Amino acid sequence: MEDVFPVEVKLQEAEGSLTITWSDDHVSAFSLAYVRGWCPCAVCQGHFTGQWRYIESRALGLSNVEPVGNYGMRMIWGDGHDTGIYQFDYLRGICHCAACDPTGERFAERVRSKSPLGSFGR
Ligand SMILES: [Zn+2]
Ligand SMILES: [Zn+2]
Repeated sequence: MEDVFPVEVKLQEAEGSLTITWSDDHVSAFSLAYVRGWCPCAVCQGHFTGQWRYIESRALGLSNVEPVGNYGMRMIWGDGHDTGIYQFDYLRGICHCAACDPTGERFAERVRSKSPLGSFGR
């Protein structure tokens, strides 16, 4: 997969959704709870295990999204949690739209290997 980056990030807090439009015109529609569940930070993920874990959480609202360099974005959650930096390939890797995840398998995942998609999780 060539490097893609978000061209539009739309946070709709009332609906609890985060919609990302990518440079290749792909659209990822996430629920905030889902994005929070995959928070990649060390606080959520704990010690390195070679796997990403989905951490169930209440939907806490997302206060802000800030760009980090040219490779990712920081999510600032309603409970003040702001240590999660989501790299673009990571975010794209959890996209569960009909094209990325036709069987719903990805959406149902609760652990995943740190490199199922090439550069994903580098
Ligand atoms: Zn976290
Ligand atoms: Zn997708």
